[in-house]
Amino acid sequence: MTDAIPKKQKVVIAGGGTAGWMTAAAMGKVLGAVCDITLVESEEIGTVGVGEATIPTLMTYNRLIGIDEARLMRAVSGTFKLGIAFENWTELGHRYIHSFGITGKDHWTAGFQHFWKRGRDLGRAGEFGDYCLELMAAEAGRFAHLPDLGLNYAYHLDSSAYAVFLRQLAEASGVRRIEGRIADVRRTDDGDLQSLTLQDGTVIPGDMFVDCTGFRALLIGEALGVGYQDWTHWLPCDRAIAVQTASVRPPLPYTCSIAHGAGWRWQIPLQHRTGNGIVFSSRFMSEDEARQILLNAVEGEVLTEPRVIRFRTGSRTAHWHRNCVAIGLSSGFIEPLESTSIHMIQRSVMRLMQMFPQGTVNPSDVREFNRQTHYEMEHIRDFIILHYHLTNRTDTPFWRHCRTMDIPEGLRHRMDLFAATGRVFRANDELFAENSWTQVMLGQGILPRGHHPVADAMSPDEVRRFLAHISENVNRTVAGLPMHQAYLDSYCKAAVTA
Ligand code: FAD
Repeated sequence: MTDAIPKKQKVVIAGGGTAGWMTAAAMGKVLGAVCDITLVESEEIGTVGVGEATIPTLMTYNRLIGIDEARLMRAVSGTFKLGIAFENWTELGHRYIHSFGITGKDHWTAGFQHFWKRGRDLGRAGEFGDYCLELMAAEAGRFAHLPDLGLNYAYHLDSSAYAVFLRQLAEASGVRRIEGRIADVRRTDDGDLQSLTLQDGTVIPGDMFVDCTGFRALLIGEALGVGYQDWTHWLPCDRAIAVQTASVRPPLPYTCSIAHGAGWRWQIPLQHRTGNGIVFSSRFMSEDEARQILLNAVEGEVLTEPRVIRFRTGSRTAHWHRNCVAIGLSSGFIEPLESTSIHMIQRSVMRLMQMFPQGTVNPSDVREFNRQTHYEMEHIRDFIILHYHLTNRTDTPFWRHCRTMDIPEGLRHRMDLFAATGRVFRANDELFAENSWTQVMLGQGILPRGHHPVADAMSPDEVRRFLAHISENVNRTVAGLPMHQAYLDSYCKAAVTA
């Protein structure tokens, strides 16, 4: 037995975008006492500069590292997000919201959709979303925290300001930042990563490396040669153009996703400006055409030069290899449709800290990390494919392709099950729960043929009263909420201006 203090492990984080600084802030806070953590980034290279919509799971990360919400919101010019409005996805002119809320009231044998479907067949139900507090609050442009009711929400945030905010936290917990361009990655004789060499000759040795270099994947891809599984046959969009505009109205408490002829565009309202972008498939649309569609559609003064971002949807074949873990865009990219990338960064950061090696890397940890990450990505991927595939649009070659393309078997099964019976089951720990699948499958046009017989146990009048009671409660609560802008002003007004 020895009471000698083990040597501090050297952790090197390559890259200082959202992934790098989220990793650094969390690791500094939790493992700062046992690890020397260095982050290298290059201002000259910069970051991808998008990624401004989040999902409610970010609260877990905030709690983990003790982030005060109002302080964060002020720093990132944040607004609240209750869901995403999808326009023109099912067909031109159609709109639905995928909210973060729970719709109606489930029975343990059957989700609320079964009771709603029965009510609809009897002519006594409104729209499915009428029974969801978050969705109705979003439509009304209202927001408040409502801790007793547990309103589910996330944030829209300025990604550059978010990186600065996290950097301050990370540096306060001892993370060292080095400015410089990585020019070479050295490996040991047995193949592990040994050190990074910067353009000015500085050598940064490490025991563990985290690759947060974005699409470049300098460590996991270039240096270690880990492959990339391409998903463009299911997720054909491969370009985005982003532009910022001045706000023209109070911020909506939701993200807008508006489909066009070969993809979709986003609108993300911040307190001081709006983030806009167009996502498209270069097989079906040229960059010039996409830029024109975007610039014709944006409202408000254009504040930045439109910037093209190229990507390939897919996943690294291993996210942890040897002594290198890929987090962020270096580990893969599904596409921004349901704002899941920051969530996946957070999941990988937490997983890495749970499996952090005590000295040498254990191959079982590596296998488990990769297993969990693959599993999670594949479920999110299927949820995103659903939006493209399940459409009535036939107006362009892009949509005809999406409608008729092959889809993963697991997704086909979920759609068939829902169409026939209205049933949805959440697979283990997957991100999107039953209510999300139900909202999107209904929104994209599947009306189940049947419903669970437990819904038939209610008389028509009981069904009517049950549904009316829920919607009256929702409407009463929504009417008592302040407007989103007023709530932002009182809770977290940002100092920044466009
Ligand atoms: P980057 O931001 O690219 O950072 C890479 C870092 O590595 C930078 O600091 C760079 O300087 C550094 N680097 C690279 N090479 C070198 C080198 N040689 N030497 C030194 N440093 C180097 N996610 C969401 O959750 N919500 C969204 O709404 C959303 N929208 C998106 C829209 C688009 C069009 C795209 C493409 C992505 C979107 N994402 C979104 C994903 C999100 O932007 C990323 O997950 C997030 O920004 C993390 O990026 P990153 O840190 O991995 O990479």
